[in-house]
Amino acid sequence: MSVLTFKFGGSSMGDARLIRGVAQIVQDSAANGNEVLTVVSAMTGVTDTLINTARAAAKGNTDAYIKATATLRDRHHEAARELVHNPAAQEALLAELHRLIDGFQNFCRSVAILGELTPRGSDAIVSIGERLSARLLAAHLQELGAASLPIDATNLIVTTGHFQSAMPLMDKTRARVQEILVPKLKAGILPIVTGFIGATEDGITTTLGRGGSDYSAGILAACIDSDELWIWTDVDGVMTTDPRLDPSAQVIPVLSYREVGELAFFGAKVLHPKTILPVMEQGMTIQVRNTFNPTHPGTRIQPEPEVLGTVAKAITIIPDVHLITVAGRGMVGVPGIAGRTFSAVARENVNLLVISQSSSEQSFCFVVRASDSTRAVRAIQRELAEEIKLQNVDRVWALEEVEIITIVGAGMREVPGVAARIFTTLAEERINVIVIAQGSSDVSMSLVVNSGDAQRAVQALHRLVINGKHAS
Ligand code: ADP
Ligand code: ASP
Ligand code: MG
Repeated sequence: MSVLTFKFGGSSMGDARLIRGVAQIVQDSAANGNEVLTVVSAMTGVTDTLINTARAAAKGNTDAYIKATATLRDRHHEAARELVHNPAAQEALLAELHRLIDGFQNFCRSVAILGELTPRGSDAIVSIGERLSARLLAAHLQELGAASLPIDATNLIVTTGHFQSAMPLMDKTRARVQEILVPKLKAGILPIVTGFIGATEDGITTTLGRGGSDYSAGILAACIDSDELWIWTDVDGVMTTDPRLDPSAQVIPVLSYREVGELAFFGAKVLHPKTILPVMEQGMTIQVRNTFNPTHPGTRIQPEPEVLGTVAKAITIIPDVHLITVAGRGMVGVPGIAGRTFSAVARENVNLLVISQSSSEQSFCFVVRASDSTRAVRAIQRELAEEIKLQNVDRVWALEEVEIITIVGAGMREVPGVAARIFTTLAEERINVIVIAQGSSDVSMSLVVNSGDAQRAVQALHRLVINGKHAS
């Protein structure tokens, strides 16, 4: 018997048929004697609809939310009717879904009247997707005779007030989880908890960031002292690259925390980058499995890397980024310019994805998301106004149309010849590498290339990975 935390993504919760499959997986595991905590995302596409509609409401578009309300109601009601047939239970479920969707419409109406969507308002609105899906799954499990309960994570995950990317307060969360959730698990109940959302100590709804249900599951798995965390998704496991970019991608059977952390940070959407943080201390095993192919062994993620014949294990890509460069001959020997630049950017809440400095100290550059680029450049120009006037700094500019490609694999730094093979491969493809940054850890290397070359670069490097032509 084990204590397991299962997380099902939106793609696994798309409609009644898929939700039935999810219920089957949960029930089978419970029937094998496991205590199972289930965390779910909103039905696929629902979070996007909620956000886009709320944004449209802020611009005064009332038609959009009236239409979205009808669509959401139809989709969830249809699923409810297919999943729950007992008349009283169906009526109760439909009433509950109605109440939540009415809430959405009321929120949008207020946003339209105010003409403004605050981060706090946005979190309240998008939280509705997971509240709806959790209720559908729990009601279906009840219909199948299981003792199941939907639970809103606003009662469990206590967070900071950073709306849209709140951070969990782990001690407070653990206390709540031990008090509310653990007794239910021990009593043989199958709790279905909403992913993605939490609440401040005052009970104001927050979210953990897009794709954050994986992180919710990591937080809850740690707080119930789960034996394992299983991320159920729509692919067989973590793969050598995004299968949508290259269909020859293969499942990686074993990865370490650090490897998967880099993969996720540098663009592999299959797992939210923060998922591993709460479970690392316990050394908990994470499995990534396919809801649509549940007997496939998937990927096992463990504390340490497995020594494999291959060094580079996966290739990821982040599109929609800009490369910002600060350059000037007068920068040599002027201390503090880089530090002040990074502080100025940090004050704007802009994340740096990759940093690189030229050895001559005449320039340094870093990559930010395209949506942050203008803000970052303006902040630097303000901060370095004096140096720019004195011409110690000649220019601060953003190069558009670039992408970050990252090669991930433990031991990249130790094994000689890996970098050489990477660059030979790219040279053969006549791909110009604009920036090279060996990750702060020894498990990754990132390259910045022109957008026009990115797809070819990924495919060439991916061939290198799967053919194992590199150092071993
Ligand atoms: P979920 O709805 O289960 O959270 P996501 O869409 O967030 O699913 O993540 C799964 C998707 O991540 C896959 O369908 C795949 O296209 C994409 N993906 C990107 N990189 C990888 C990778 N290296 N391995 C597996 N999947 C990847
Ligand atoms: N539903 C949320 C999103 O789409 C969270 C998640 O799916 O993990 O971002
Ligand atoms: Mg996801």
